[in-house]
Amino acid sequence: MILRVVEDKKCFGCGACVVACPSNSLEMGIDEWGFLSPRLVGQCTQCELCEKVCPALYPSREDAKSYQVFAAFSLTPALRLWCSSGGVFTSLALEFMTQGGRVIGVAFGEDFRRVHHVMAEKIQDIFRFSGSKYIQSDPTSVLRSVQGLSEKFLFVGTPCQVAGVRRLIECGVLRGDFTLIDFFCHGVPSYVLWDSYLNLLQKRVGRILHIEQRFKITDWHRFQCRVFGSRGVYCRGFEEDPFGFLYLQNYLLRESCYTCPYRGYHSFADLRLGDFWGELFSHDRLGTSLVVAFTSRGRDCIIGSKDVFLQSMPRETVLTSQAVAIQKPADTEKVFALLRRQGDIGQLLKQCFLYKVWRGKLKKIALRMLRKPMFRMPYKVLKKLLRG
Ligand SMILES: Cc1cc2nc3c(=O)[nH]c(=O)nc-3n(C[C@H](O)[C@H](O)[C@H](O)COP(=O)(O)OP(=O)(O)OC[C@H]3O[C@@H](n4cnc5c(N)ncnc54)[C@H](O)[C@@H]3O)c2cc1C
Ligand code: SF4
Ligand code: SF4
Ligand code: SF4
Repeated sequence: MILRVVEDKKCFGCGACVVACPSNSLEMGIDEWGFLSPRLVGQCTQCELCEKVCPALYPSREDAKSYQVFAAFSLTPALRLWCSSGGVFTSLALEFMTQGGRVIGVAFGEDFRRVHHVMAEKIQDIFRFSGSKYIQSDPTSVLRSVQGLSEKFLFVGTPCQVAGVRRLIECGVLRGDFTLIDFFCHGVPSYVLWDSYLNLLQKRVGRILHIEQRFKITDWHRFQCRVFGSRGVYCRGFEEDPFGFLYLQNYLLRESCYTCPYRGYHSFADLRLGDFWGELFSHDRLGTSLVVAFTSRGRDCIIGSKDVFLQSMPRETVLTSQAVAIQKPADTEKVFALLRRQGDIGQLLKQCFLYKVWRGKLKKIALRMLRKPMFRMPYKVLKKLLRG
């Protein structure tokens, strides 16, 4: 039975098994560690469909041989600024919907405690999908609702969620004409972390009204987390923000993220999006997307867009711009246990990371000082002297 995959900690939380179950015996829930997991809630008829669609049991397929790599961004500057990277997803989604297709993306729930996949009902809904939400979304409800439909859909999700949707299509559970988009994925953190972070934010700004985890008006490379509340605004560089700090240090991620089979160019999607990190666009402040088209459908989708600037790039850029593996910190279990016991992210940072936080802060202050004109000369002289 499928729950073996969960017990073995191989589950991605993609929800494909829940969508496929013909007797609705499975449901998605949040487990004690704060991760989305399927659980049995009804009578199982042993039909084995859940196993057939599970991407954890079919983790890879032959890699696309003729994939194409692009640098890209939306030609609408406001859109480019509003979105996470180059605004490519939002541009494609707007065009797709204007041409009569239906778009499934990720939006925060009303109290910001959870994120869900939802279908855009009107064009303005697409803007709720813009911007990365660094937490795992539950796609089961919307996928169940489109199971019998044969319309055109654009679906975006983590690579493992897209792998689940691809299996659902291949096994005949979904009948629609799907274009699948995923992204270079760092991983998804526990809801235990997210909930304690929201508690901290509520103490500072009151009832939360809006969250942007990729606010980049000043610089795409140094994006910030901006939160509007009933009592004020919180704005902090993502690296200094308590949630961003732990996320970037790979703490409290889902177990499957540490051994993810979908990094680099391994994907079940038609298109993959990401940030074009690296030297090439280091001076760009607005944001440029790295786009990989794995299939002819993906290629037609991106090349056919009237709102996207495209530049063909060598294939190696995928490996130089993105991490192909992430390391699990040795003390992650200890940190996790502490957070679950205390539930206070501020206290956790003081207890476990004071040295690292201050080292990061001091480094930043020193670099900022050295950029000032009065320090430039002595710095250059010092550098020369040090080189001998
Ligand atoms: C959890 C997570 C980890 C990521 N890790 C990396 C990384 O390591 N390297 C990298 O280059 N890029 C990463 N990205 C992708 C990056 O942040 C941008 O989403 C991507 O570059 C697309 O930018 P855009 O301007 O085209 O997107 P936008 O036009 O702003 O649209 C955002 C897109 O992301 C989707 N999305 C947002 N949150 C979620 C979610 N929780 N689950 C599923 N889909 C979601 C939206 O629905 C939409 O497609 C990550 C995104 C997420 C959500
Ligand atoms: S074996 Fe069939 S009935 Fe049982 S949980 Fe899986 S899909 Fe549902
Ligand atoms: S189908 Fe997805 S959610 Fe279900 S067990 Fe497999 S990986 Fe987990
Ligand atoms: S890192 Fe891999 S396993 Fe984790 S959410 Fe992303 S695609 Fe899924």
